[in-house]
Amino acid sequence: MDDVSELARPNTFEESGRRMAEAGRYLAGGVSSNFRLGISPTPLMFERAEGPYLFDADGNRLIDYYLGMGPMILGHTPRDVIAAAAEQMGRGILYAGQSAVEVEAARLICAMVPCAELVRFNSSGSEAVQGALRIARAATGRRTVVKFEGHYHGWFDNILWSTAPPAGANGPVAGSLGQVADEGAIEALPWNDLGAVRARVGRGDVAAVIMEPAMCNAGAIAPAPGYLEGVREACTASGTVLIFDEVITGFRVGPGGAQARLGVTPDLATFAKAIANGFPVAAVAGRAELMELCAKGVVHGGTYNGQAVAMAACVATLRRLQEAGAYDAMEARGTRLMQGIREAFAEAGVPAVVAGFPTIFHVGLGLEAPARNWADLLRLDRAGYVRFTTALLRRGVRALERGAWFLSTEHDDAVIEATLEAVRGAVREI
Ligand code: PMP
Repeated sequence: MDDVSELARPNTFEESGRRMAEAGRYLAGGVSSNFRLGISPTPLMFERAEGPYLFDADGNRLIDYYLGMGPMILGHTPRDVIAAAAEQMGRGILYAGQSAVEVEAARLICAMVPCAELVRFNSSGSEAVQGALRIARAATGRRTVVKFEGHYHGWFDNILWSTAPPAGANGPVAGSLGQVADEGAIEALPWNDLGAVRARVGRGDVAAVIMEPAMCNAGAIAPAPGYLEGVREACTASGTVLIFDEVITGFRVGPGGAQARLGVTPDLATFAKAIANGFPVAAVAGRAELMELCAKGVVHGGTYNGQAVAMAACVATLRRLQEAGAYDAMEARGTRLMQGIREAFAEAGVPAVVAGFPTIFHVGLGLEAPARNWADLLRLDRAGYVRFTTALLRRGVRALERGAWFLSTEHDDAVIEATLEAVRGAVREI
């Protein structure tokens, strides 16, 4: 059996480990987000990034498929975005007032995204989701929000429910210790089950249905044919606000997000990540009559909302993504990468499903058939996959342990081929 000894010089991560121990003296758990905890062989310390690469404390150069958990769609060092941010920085950072770049960023979103008639900015996806939920409850005068098992919409109390529920869970499952339960404010349904949505919203008391229009957090799953259309119809018929959380899919699966790609327009949508290539920008956008409530009694605030440097980065990012053919090469290379990973597992006789979009896909180790919802994802071989990503790291490729792969415009053909070489070695090793 091949193992890591086939490598001339496998990457090691001792210096990251040492610096993590030091970090733990000042940062709780050594990190600033729980999603950076518990990574094998150790959470990494980085010194710099460039194009498709990260450079860590041990001097390893890693091909990066985390891409900041999705934002870095133009790679780590896009000259145009950096120049726009630097230019704005010279004219001021935060005005606590409006600026031309903020209006231009909103105009671009309205031009690119089907549902966007008006926009409000925030600094994180979690906040944008709060905005959308509050607008929906105010617009309908109803309280209950329906979400879906395995869908993630940020870490706040009212929505961190059933993101990873155990099999057969009855009722919404809290995602954190210390989380306040607001009885009846949230219900979690299985996704891709149109009958379940119809039956629930048909009762006429649901404020909003919120979903990732293509499931990307727990595993990349496309909506079943007719599902989004059916949910759209059921929401319209019952006066329920349909919210697509496009924090991952927005500006990543195409310039108009999943709603344009899949052809179903929600009432409200939330965006973040690829919207500003790593600068802290999020947005809630949607139908004018709903968004206008923000100026009519619905409080939406934030000191950093519309921060000018981030807005300049947002404008530069969206302008690039709006160019004709902006996604073409990335889609072709993502397709090649997906196929290569599929072949590597197939040749080794290891069951795995590679599914999703070329710019955000998921490798489901242990699956014999594509997953349809969270219950199917419970069959994943998660421990085996962590062995795989650890083997990849030693070979110079950094991919998320939960199975997602994000692509950037900077992952060129040579980078894809080097990745596939590492994938084949890692598959042999595990
Ligand atoms: N919604 C979705 C679909 C997400 O993927 C995320 C983050 N992974 C969020 C909301 C929360 O965004 P943030 O981490 O910026 O608060």
